[in-house]
Amino acid sequence: MYHAVIIGGGACGLMCAVQAGYLGKKVLVLEKADKPGAKILISGGGRCNYTNLYASATNFISENEHFCKSAFSQFTVEDTISFFETYGIVGTEKTLGQLFPESNKAKDIVDVFVNLCHDFDQTILCNAEVKSVEQTVKGGFKVIYTLGTKTKEVEVPAVVVASGGLPVQKMGASDFGLKVARNFGLRVTKTAPALVPLTVTGKDADWFAALSGNSIFCRVSNSKISFEENILFTHWGLSGPSILQISSYWRPGETIEIDMLPQQSILDLIDSERLTNGKKLLLSLLAHLYSKKFAEALRKYLPVDKNLASLSKDDLYQIEHFIHHFEVKPAGDKGYDRAEVMRGGVATDELSSKTLEAKKVPGLFFGGECVDVTGWLGGYNFQWAWASGFVIAQNI
Ligand SMILES: Cc1cc2nc3c(=O)[nH]c(=O)nc-3n(C[C@H](O)[C@H](O)[C@H](O)COP(=O)(O)OP(=O)(O)OC[C@H]3O[C@@H](n4cnc5c(N)ncnc54)[C@H](O)[C@@H]3O)c2cc1C
Repeated sequence: MYHAVIIGGGACGLMCAVQAGYLGKKVLVLEKADKPGAKILISGGGRCNYTNLYASATNFISENEHFCKSAFSQFTVEDTISFFETYGIVGTEKTLGQLFPESNKAKDIVDVFVNLCHDFDQTILCNAEVKSVEQTVKGGFKVIYTLGTKTKEVEVPAVVVASGGLPVQKMGASDFGLKVARNFGLRVTKTAPALVPLTVTGKDADWFAALSGNSIFCRVSNSKISFEENILFTHWGLSGPSILQISSYWRPGETIEIDMLPQQSILDLIDSERLTNGKKLLLSLLAHLYSKKFAEALRKYLPVDKNLASLSKDDLYQIEHFIHHFEVKPAGDKGYDRAEVMRGGVATDELSSKTLEAKKVPGLFFGGECVDVTGWLGGYNFQWAWASGFVIAQNI
């Protein structure tokens, strides 16, 4: 009856079902939650940052950084934009290429998929949790799932694993896709929370906590990469876009460097202020750059009560070092419940990059977050989910 079962009615699974519909292929979507697209609904603060105008392979982390290129060439950002435009979703760029629906409603995105699945007569079964996938002697698959209290099974020639990753377990996130991969003898790379806030403990913890709520524009770097966006001080450490971005590249025990004035030199600023207003306190210069509360907090580290004219060479060195090279050694991260995405997953060398089919198991496909392709913050992860769903639909 069905060309394939799709495990998971999230971003990848729904796109796959719709694209299969265009091609006249019937699919059965099994979704364990009581409605499809739950993560789309909460994404981007309920507004859904559904793609990024500048998405390319360089914005993704994977053992094989070239793996995603084929899928992205088969379903481009322009394809995403025109797909949604066809169904009335006009995109508006907020910042750094991040595209949101003009309506600011993530529900509009989910509605597109639900309506199209209905038009194509694709079946989406909710409250249907897949328990196992087995190969049959005929070369197809038997998918066993529970629907309410009943256990059911269905036989199909192809299975699409689009069951997502581990973030936000209270929303039903699971490692089911990774288990299926392992059961079929496929390698899974090490997984970890990504796009996740970082915690700070020890002697600086109180200082960070006191600054909770302050947000400043910074460049955050480690030995691999740097990001220029805001950071947010919190009761337990650091969050904000720059921190979420670097978290995907951070490993426990490593230090990150924060430049709190990435587009100017603090020493040049002090020099030029000194010429006209040497009596100005360092405190008021810093309060002007940041906030009064933040400048006051810097008293712990900098001679903020000195006037600019009286700053010594050592003072200037200390100020430059602190503002431009502030080092933090996070204690850890806030875990999967605060992560936006999972890093790692089904190893890319187990899959064909052109079709996303398992090389060792014809008919078994993996897409979306359960694959070892992890995007930056800013609509990149949905672009991967849409593109991988599209590619799989062509090949089931
Ligand atoms: C708070 C938050 C905000 C985010 N905001 C954005 C954003 O604005 N832009 C962006 O690009 N990305 C964002 N992301 C990331 C994005 O949501 C994911 O990358 C994307 O949803 C992954 O798509 P997917 O289809 O692989 O998985 P999902 O969308 O998670 O879908 C997987 C589905 O499979 C179901 N499932 C799991 N196991 C089973 C099973 N055994 N049987 C049946 N069903 C099962 C799950 O219930 C789920 O519905 C955000 C993530 C979070 C947590």
